[in-house]
Formats: sequence, structure tokens, C-alpha cells
Amino acid sequence: MQVRITVSFPYEAPVSQSLFERASAVTPGGVNSPVRAFRAVGGTPRFMVSGAGPYLTDADGREYVDLVCSWGPMILGHSHPEVIAAVQEAVSRGTSFGTPGAGEVELAEEIVARIEPVEQVRLVSSGTEATMSAIRLARGFTGRPKVVKFAGCYHGHVDALLAAAGSGVATFGLPDTPGVTGAQAGDTIVLPYNDLEAVRTAFAAHPGEIACVITEASPGNMGVVPPLPGFNQGLKDICSDNGALYISDEVMTGFRVSKSGWYGIDGVRPDLMTFGKVMGGGFPAAAFGGRADVMAHLAPAGPVYQAGTLSGNPIATAAGVAQLRLLDDAAYEKVDAVSAELRALVTEALAKEGVAHRLQVAGNMFSVFFTGADVTNYDEAKAQESFRFTAFFHSMLAQGVYLPPSAFESWFVSTAHDTQAVERIAAALPAAARAAAEATE
Ligand code: PLP
Repeated sequence: MQVRITVSFPYEAPVSQSLFERASAVTPGGVNSPVRAFRAVGGTPRFMVSGAGPYLTDADGREYVDLVCSWGPMILGHSHPEVIAAVQEAVSRGTSFGTPGAGEVELAEEIVARIEPVEQVRLVSSGTEATMSAIRLARGFTGRPKVVKFAGCYHGHVDALLAAAGSGVATFGLPDTPGVTGAQAGDTIVLPYNDLEAVRTAFAAHPGEIACVITEASPGNMGVVPPLPGFNQGLKDICSDNGALYISDEVMTGFRVSKSGWYGIDGVRPDLMTFGKVMGGGFPAAAFGGRADVMAHLAPAGPVYQAGTLSGNPIATAAGVAQLRLLDDAAYEKVDAVSAELRALVTEALAKEGVAHRLQVAGNMFSVFFTGADVTNYDEAKAQESFRFTAFFHSMLAQGVYLPPSAFESWFVSTAHDTQAVERIAAALPAAARAAAEATE
């Protein structure tokens, strides 16, 4: 592949390179979460040492405008003084008690106050735990085994949800990874996204067997592919008609795309919802919640077991409460405005170079597909010319802009992305667009 890059600072990253070599000796692939390894784009992952506002600084001392925001959580930018102060205050009182604490109550009340369908909520430590627990609860509540998910939707590394079998027809999930058995994935039905007819067909083929449909409220894990008008409502209606639960996974969209997440945008009322990322203020905190009659089945109130040593951790809940309380209407207006400004700049730069692309949007989340057609499902997402993204990514990185290192991820902005940060991105875009135009497979 030919990638021409305008380098504004030395592109080599010797300290990151050396850390990566040390990391690779003691950690598989050198990272603790695969996408961080740059495998999709090549090159050396940057080891970051600090973050302030819209900027990250790497171990080689270079500063980047951050358009990843820790994959969503840092909606107020890095090191927001009020979040840091709340964390410091909480740390000064101790780090974990293994008992109930006031912080958990406050975080749960914040969530319930913002998201009307959530009558009760249980705190956990990761989005994976939230979705895993939600589908266990749905199975326990309905007494049914099967789960419907959509190809291209990611719900964490839950065994049963790591099935993403071929698209087109309703099919039983085949495990997507060694280590997940056929039995674990065998009750998962994987369907093409945005295809209500496939959902109806699956329910007709498995009467009384489907416990729930789980979907990303608006998918961001195949790039940004919003639900077509009526899709989420259709899912909800099909579930209601068939005695199944509709689970909306808002781990990514929750508290990010509006005060009440994607629910605040489309108003479709789920039976259960899952949250993570923004609600933890940069700490491991996540949650699942919804209808009180369903949540009442959870231990110790009910028979469906679920637990966690660090669930509701006092530092994580302090960070989450502080961050959510700062996220008022003005904050979302700011994030939306920065997102719109960046989208316009990206479109302008790519159009100027004649690069076929689609900029897809869900609230303030967006991503670029290098294709000439709208993307409505995973197959269409995969059909893009992702080699152009690789060239675009490396040019931006070389010019001090940190994009998600994959063509299949949302970009994230924050309230801290000010004029100066936007100008730095704007200055980098023409060369990156040229690199995308000139890239060959
Ligand atoms: N659900 C969605 C929609 C996500 O985007 C993610 C993570 O990116 C998860 C679940 C899993 O969350 P975690 O990485 O905290 O386990």
C-alpha cells in the first residue's frame, strides 16, 4: 500500500516502541484490549502518559488532539478539574469497602432520574458484565433460552454474544472465536441489522423460545450505523407481541448522545437497558436496569444470581456522579456543535480530493465510511475501502490527531474540544484526505 504522509513532527515513536516491545513480552499482543494494538492500521501503538482537555500526550512527549476519548467515556475531556476533585475526595476516604455506600445510591438515582424506562438499576464494573447480566436476567425472567442479536453489533466479550454468523438469513450463531463452544453460542440467533423481516421470521421459526432481542441503541461498533426510522420501535413491538424482552445496549450511546442517551432521541421504551463508558467518568463503572418487575428477579430480591466484589466501587461512583452532574443541556449542545463542525470539515476535505465517502451520524457520534453508498448493515460496512482509512489515519496521527485505529469505530468528541483543537484537526485534514485519495490496496 502506498501511503504518503505530511509529517509535522517526527513520526517514529521510540519510547512507545520500546514500551510495546516490553509489553509484548509479558502481555499477549502487547495490549489489554485488542483494538489498541493498531493491528487494523499497522504501526506502533502510542503509549499515552497523560491527558488534559482535548489532548493526549504520549511517552515520546508528543501531543495529540484526541478523537477517541477513551472510546467514549471522556465526554468532558481529560482531567476535568471537578471530576478529578471528586475522585481525590473519594480516594481520601478509602478505595473499596465491600459494603453498600452512599455513592452507589447517588449514581443509581442519577441514572433513574435521567432515563425514564429505568425504574431500577444494578451497578457492575464493565459493559460486558452489564450485557451478560441483562441477558441472563431476560432468560431467567422469561424462562426461555434464545437470544437475538445483530451482525455488527458488539455487546462486549460475552460468550453468547460473540457469535456473529453470516448475514442475509436468520441463522444460529456460530462461535466467532475459539473458546466459545457451540453450546454457548447455539442459543444465539444472529440477524442482519436494520432488517425487521428477518426478526419476524426468527420469531415465527422459534415460537416461545426467544427470551430477548439485544441491540445497540444506535450501533457504533461497525462504524456509526444508525437504526433506520421505525427499526427500534419495530423491535420493541415484535418483542411485546411475542412475550420477549427488548434490551437496548446503551453502553456507548448512554449519557453521550443526549442527557438520556439514544432513548432521549428515539423515545422507544426498552424493557432492559445497559450502560457503561460515560457513566463511570473514566473509571470502571457500568450498569443494567429497566422494568422494576423484571429487575425484581435479580438476587437477592429474586432468584437470578448476579454479583461483583468491586461493583459500585466508591471511586468509580464518585467519578461517575461528578461527570453526570456536569452533563447539562449546555454540555450536550457544545458536544453536538463540535461534532457538527468536525463533520463539515472532514466532508469538505474528502470532497475536495474526490474521495468517495459517507459520513454517518448518531447524535454527536460519527464515523467516515470510504464508500459511495449509505451503510445500513455490517455487510455494507465491510464493503468500504478501508485501505483508504489506513492512509487517512496515519496521516492524521503523523500530524498530531489521534483517531480510532480502525475504520469500524465511532469517533468521539468532548466539551473540551475548543477552537484551538478544531483548528489543529482542520489543518491536518487536507493532507490526510490526499493520502486517502492516493492510497492503493
Ligand atoms: N456494549 C457496547 C455497545 C459497547 O460499545 C461495548 C464496548 O465498547 C460494550 C458493550 C462492552 O463494554 P466494556 O468494554 O466496558 O466491557
